[in-house]
Amino acid sequence: TQVDREWLQEYVDDWVAFYRKVTVEGNVASYIPELAKADPNHLGISILGKNGTAVRSGDVDQAFTIQSISKVLSFIIACVEKGVGYVLDRVDVEPTGEAFNSIMHLEMKSLNKPFNPFVNAGALTVTSMLNGNTPEEKLAPILELLEKIIGYRPVINEQVFRSEFETSARNRAIGYYLLETGFLESDLELTLDTYFRQCSIEITVDDLAKIGLILANDGEDPNNEEEIIPRQVARITKALMLTCGMYDASGKFATYVGIPAKSGVSGGILALAPPRVRNTQFPFIEGCGIGVFGPALEERGNSIAGIKLLKHIASQWDLSIF
Ligand code: GLN
Repeated sequence: TQVDREWLQEYVDDWVAFYRKVTVEGNVASYIPELAKADPNHLGISILGKNGTAVRSGDVDQAFTIQSISKVLSFIIACVEKGVGYVLDRVDVEPTGEAFNSIMHLEMKSLNKPFNPFVNAGALTVTSMLNGNTPEEKLAPILELLEKIIGYRPVINEQVFRSEFETSARNRAIGYYLLETGFLESDLELTLDTYFRQCSIEITVDDLAKIGLILANDGEDPNNEEEIIPRQVARITKALMLTCGMYDASGKFATYVGIPAKSGVSGGILALAPPRVRNTQFPFIEGCGIGVFGPALEERGNSIAGIKLLKHIASQWDLSIF
C-alpha cells in the first residue's frame, strides 16, 4: 500500500538529519577559492516523481554552482547541434579511473581521443564543439534547455566564474594539450571562458531533480510527453553518468548505489531512477529525478554526505537499475 505523504516527509527528514552528521568528515573544494566559502554543514535533497510528487528536505533553497554537472548539458547540446556520431568520433565513452582533471591519460595513445565527455579533457573538447563565436552564443542553447526544464533562466555566478578563471592553471594545461593535438574546434580562450561560465551556472536541488526527471524518462517530460532531449541522446547520457559520472568513484557508485548520477565539486549530485524500477509502496520513485547538495566532499570530489544519503535511499527503495 502507498504510504502517506506526511510519513514520507518525516522519513526523508530523518535521513537528512542523520547524514548531515557525516558532513564533518569531508571538506569543501578550495582549489577554486570562491567555492571554499560554502558552508560544509549544508545538506539538501529534492526528489521529484513522475506524477508531480515532490519530497524536499534539508537545505533545499541554497543555490550553488553547477560545476561538473554542466558537462551533462554541454554534451547533450553538442549532440543536438552536431549529431551523436560527430561528437563520439571526437570524444570516447570510456571511464578513466582517474580524477576529473587528470592529465595522466592526455596522451590518449590507444584511443586517440579524450576518454569521455565528463573528464575535463573531454568536457573542454565538447565545449569547443558548441556552435557560436562568443561564450554567450555558445552558452545560449544550454541556458535555453535549462530554462525549459526548470522554468526560469538561471544566472551565471560571476564571482565563481572569475575565481575559477583566475586560478585555472590545470585546465589551461589540459586546454593547451588539446590545442596542440588538434582537438579544439574553437579558440582556446573562447573554450576556457565558455567552460568556466558553464560551470558557474547557479542552480538548486529542485532544478537538478527536474533535469533528472527528464533524463529518467528518456528525455520526455512525463507531464505532457513533450520531447525535451532526444531519446538516443538521453540514453547515452545516462550510460555515461553511470560509467563516468562520479569521477574515479564511478565503479563504486554503480556497485553500491546503482543509478545514473553526475556530481560536481560544489557538492551537487544529479541522479535519477529509471521508470523500469517498480515500487508499490513508493510509486512516485518510478522514473523520479533526484537532486542533492552537500558541499563537504570526499577525497575524489563527490559530496560525502550526498553519496551516503543516495546509497541509503537507493537501498531502502530498491532503486538499482540492475
Ligand atoms: N569547474 C570545475 C573544473 O573544471 C569543475 C570540476 C568538477 O566539478 N569536478 O575544475
